[in-house]
Amino acid sequence: MKKNNSNKISLAVLFSSVLLLIAIGVYQLLADSATPLLSSVHKITKLKKEAAQKADLSIKEAMYYRKLPENMVQCGLCPRKCVLKEAQRGFCRVRVNYGGKLYSLVYGKPVSVHVDPIEKKPLYHVLPATSSFSLATAGCNLGCIFCQNWEISQAYPENARHQNLSPEEIINYAIKEKCESIAFTYTEPTIFYEYMLDICKLAKEKGLKTIWVTCGYIEEAPLRELCKYLDAANVDLKGYSENFYKDYTNSSLEPVLRTFKILKQEGIHTELTNLIIPGMNDNKNMIAGMFDWIAINLGTDVPVHLSRFYPHYQLKNKPPTPIKTLLEAKEIGIKKGLNYIYIGNVAGKGLSDMYCPKCKKLLIKRLGYSVEENNIQDGKCKFCGEEIPGIWK
Ligand code: SF4
Repeated sequence: MKKNNSNKISLAVLFSSVLLLIAIGVYQLLADSATPLLSSVHKITKLKKEAAQKADLSIKEAMYYRKLPENMVQCGLCPRKCVLKEAQRGFCRVRVNYGGKLYSLVYGKPVSVHVDPIEKKPLYHVLPATSSFSLATAGCNLGCIFCQNWEISQAYPENARHQNLSPEEIINYAIKEKCESIAFTYTEPTIFYEYMLDICKLAKEKGLKTIWVTCGYIEEAPLRELCKYLDAANVDLKGYSENFYKDYTNSSLEPVLRTFKILKQEGIHTELTNLIIPGMNDNKNMIAGMFDWIAINLGTDVPVHLSRFYPHYQLKNKPPTPIKTLLEAKEIGIKKGLNYIYIGNVAGKGLSDMYCPKCKKLLIKRLGYSVEENNIQDGKCKFCGEEIPGIWK
């Protein structure tokens, strides 16, 4: 009887040990699958010159790189500073070393060209109710697992269908379509820097405004050069945490914060977008830290867009951001003294209207991307005369 009991106990211990091991295995499997596998899709790849030519890509010498021994080059456009051997291209997939020189593969090769309301950028303090000629090439220098445009941002340029449009043609189309601005958007415009810069120079000659919608991951020298021809920017602050940037975007926060400061120094009208993702960057302390940093470094007049997340790319299983989370984040920002906070990606709720920070009256009423009412006159509140930051004509 005693032996039977001890056998039963041994079996029970064995059974529970097996269960424990299975549970640990399942946990590790789940933990692993939740870890972003960014490096697997962002390795340095090669593209031979003949293949680039066959795919009708550009072989345009890049700005901002230095030559290294043995025909290697180092790109100096973004903080990655990729070092490339012959025929290797950078993390962004669109800058390549041929014969010891760095080339852009996407100059004049946009994959996305649209006439958009400027509110879609989003820019709420720049020429309301006007159209912006918007374009992008393939490629990106980040690897966000929640990317909303991953089909083109994560594409190799030889696989993405492009148009051939010179900077002159872009400007002509923009004028023909009655656009008041050109927006570099959808993917990360930094990676088609030379194309963007040439379009910006021509746009200035023709009186068009220029808009950079960006992740802000760029080196100081190219940014300062771009600022000479730039009117406005919307910069993503994807999460106020180095770990968030490291784990989910394959980049780092510090260079992005530096970009905000440089844009302020250069007098570029800048708005900030923070996409709030449930369980990833919706921590109230993180949001409070972000608003503190904005207030101290950029001032309380910077327009902030708190954007609702929808399931995308590698985050298809996440739920959309609850409206409550967005409202609570807005409340935190208001308490920190921010004057212009908008909730984006939420239709028809009046959450993207603008109010005068002084007299509290309605300045701009929006429905989706359209403007229903505008009470700003000559850049001021028409009721109390308060100056409203932005570009109004
Ligand atoms: S722009 Fe592209 S090639 Fe240049 S450093 Fe950044 S990722 Fe590398």
